[in-house]
Amino acid sequence: MAQRIEGKTVSESLRATIRTETEAFRKETGVTPGLAVIIVGDDPASAVYVRNKHKACGEVGMYSEVHTLPQDTAEDTLLALIDRLNQDTKIHGILVQLPLPKQISEEHVIAAIDPRKDVDAFHPVNVGHIMLGDYHFLPCTPAGVMELLRFYNIPVSGKNCVVVGRSNIVGKPQAMLLLEQNGTVTICHSRTTDLAAHTLRADILVVAVGKPNFITGDMVKEGAVVIDVGINRKADGKLTGDVDYASVEPKASFITPVPGGVGPMTITMLLKNTLTAARVACGVFSQK
Ligand code: NDP
Repeated sequence: MAQRIEGKTVSESLRATIRTETEAFRKETGVTPGLAVIIVGDDPASAVYVRNKHKACGEVGMYSEVHTLPQDTAEDTLLALIDRLNQDTKIHGILVQLPLPKQISEEHVIAAIDPRKDVDAFHPVNVGHIMLGDYHFLPCTPAGVMELLRFYNIPVSGKNCVVVGRSNIVGKPQAMLLLEQNGTVTICHSRTTDLAAHTLRADILVVAVGKPNFITGDMVKEGAVVIDVGINRKADGKLTGDVDYASVEPKASFITPVPGGVGPMTITMLLKNTLTAARVACGVFSQK
């Protein structure tokens, strides 16, 4: 039987540390780390994510503000707001909730954020830093996965790591982070032939596909560590992952549940990045 990786517990422990560090930083510099979150339109899921981010900031003693713009906002209007926030000294992190309405280019918006305030780590400059291994910020979800592995003392070095999914926000950076920890990494995607032949070799399997119950027990090696990034809403409104928990759990050594696995870590890593951004802005940043 697999050990459940409890993202909620890990997240609470990390948030307590972030809270203490935020307080110490404020005492040292007089600065309160500040996050601006921008949401365009009225997508209910996005609204929940934004509310949770705002609340989480308050809980660790950070300042945050939410900018809600209407669905028909012009790209120039959003870019002007980002420009203003780039100059605002009480704001250290800027996050634009994705997806954006069709009339706005995500690429333009991400490029407009000052890389020093890019707490999502999606800006091409930060993506480049991650490739080079000399980063300040890591994208929140893959960084959260690495924290889970660290918390449970799961070694990555020398392990066969298989990442299913190659999106810019999860799959690709996840692969880079596993590589940085000396994993032997395979990236699978929709054109991969014989997916199971790859997943069956995984000591650590990270799945970020967006298809409910996509990975089944017959695709997983005995003793594998299985990390399910997927968040899919079922017809009954409940959340489910990309991994078929019932058939995979008996074979895995460790497994993340959905909800309660990777999900809670994403906002925690956002808080960590916001504190880092404030430290960098104040010149008191000393470690990765
Ligand atoms: P994307 O849709 O951007 O990417 C999905 C990836 O899955 C693509 O690379 C795609 O391949 C690959 N894929 C699709 N079908 C197959 C297949 N049959 N076999 C192998 N690979 C396949 O999704 P995201 O990366 O943004 O998100 C993935 C999941 O993670 C979603 O459920 C999302 O909700 C969740 N998520 C969870 C977060 C959290 O906080 N826990 C944060 C972000 C995302 P190709 O590139 O070839 O099209």
